[in-house]
This record gives sequence, structure tokens and C-alpha cells, in this order.
Amino acid sequence: MGPIGVFGGTFDPIHYGHLRTAFELMEALSLSEVRFIPAGSPPHRGQPQASAEARLAMVRAALSKHAGFTVDDRELDRAGPSYSVDTLASLRAEFVDSPLCLIIGMDAFLGLTNWHRWERILDLAHIIVAHRPGWRVPDTGPLHDLVRSIGTGRREDLHEALAGRIFVRAVTQLEISSTDLRALIRAGHDPRFLMPDEVRELVTATGCYK
Ligand code: ATP
Repeated sequence: MGPIGVFGGTFDPIHYGHLRTAFELMEALSLSEVRFIPAGSPPHRGQPQASAEARLAMVRAALSKHAGFTVDDRELDRAGPSYSVDTLASLRAEFVDSPLCLIIGMDAFLGLTNWHRWERILDLAHIIVAHRPGWRVPDTGPLHDLVRSIGTGRREDLHEALAGRIFVRAVTQLEISSTDLRALIRAGHDPRFLMPDEVRELVTATGCYK
């Protein structure tokens, strides 16, 4: 079994930037699967606009046809803020022998040292950082030092150890964000070709971004 990709997000809504990133990383790193984990109550930001049920339904709809992509709703069952460290501890207890690869965008990685018990995350998982337009690893400071000490460009390292490495990988730059999508829909425009049709249909049916 290859490493398991763990892709958390508010997915408010899920879009092709998320899906393409997950797909490219799954292929490039030979991940056995990517688990999409919608956040219940994200600790670092305001509450999502769409309900947890609507976001989960959109993620399910987006992934339904794609082998290797799975939906994991464990954060939605948990009361209180969803901390990545708790999610990873619960995955580690379930998948004792599989490397875990936490997938995050570069924008999220730049805030890593503010995350709850962030050092513990690296005991539980590798971190895969996907480039996003306009962001890069800083030239100095703690994240720079961290990438210098445990960064790797060898995908075998992610298969050989269960956790503890950082892998920075460029992915196709799709400048799509959920924030922009919500604004576009609110303004009465059509999100076609920015998200799967199944998600677009749910957005229309539920009116969750009106
Ligand atoms: P928002 O605009 O509401 O902040 P978002 O589009 O960034 O949302 P999230 O659900 O917050 O989506 O993102 C989940 C993860 O996906 C984060 O790690 C984020 O960096 C990453 N991500 C989001 N959009 C892209 C994109 N276009 N390309 C690559 N990674 C992305």
C-alpha cells in the first residue's frame, strides 16, 4: 500500500483547483488514495457559508466518478474546532502501517507555525505543499529552516517513512478560489468550467451561495 493523501479544506465549495491538485499529487507521488476531509468548524477562519451537509454533498458529488478519491466525514462528526493534528491522530490509529501525506496549499503552509500543535503533525504525517499562484517558501525564518532540514524531493522518502518529511511540489496553477466562486455566484454569474457540473447543479438546487 502506498501513502494515503489527506486533503482537508472547507471546500466551500470544492472546485477544479482542489481536484487537479489532488490528482497531480496522487500520480506524482504514487499515493494509494486521496481522502478529502471537509472541515467542520475551521479554527483559522470565519465560518463557512454553506452548511456542513451541503459542503459534504458537494464533495461527494465531485468525487463520485474518480477512483482513488475518497470522502472522509470524520471532522464533521466532531464537536468544536477541527484541528488537523486531531484528524491525523485519528487516521494514524486507523491506518497503522500507511504513510500519511497531509496535502496543503502553499498559502496554508506559510501559516503552519500558527497551527495547533503543528510540530506533532510531523510525527503523524508528511506534509506535501502544493504551489499556488503568487506564494513561495520564504527565503529565511522557521519555515525556510524546516524545509532545509526535513524537506525532500524524493518520493521514495514518503513511502519509506510513515511521517516526518516535507515535499514541495509544483502543480498546474489554476487560479480558482472558493472565495472568488462564492462572489461570482452571488453576483448571479455561472461557475461552469470552474467546478464539476455535479457540484454546479447542487449549488443551483440548494441556493447555498445566494
Ligand atoms: P477560500 O477561498 O474560501 O479560502 P480555497 O479555494 O482556498 O477557499 P479551501 O477549501 O480553503 O479552498 O482549500 C483547501 C486546500 O486547498 C488548502 O490547502 C488550499 O491551499 C488548497 N487550494 C485551494 N485552492 C487551490 C488551487 N486553486 N490550487 C491549489 N491548491 C488550492
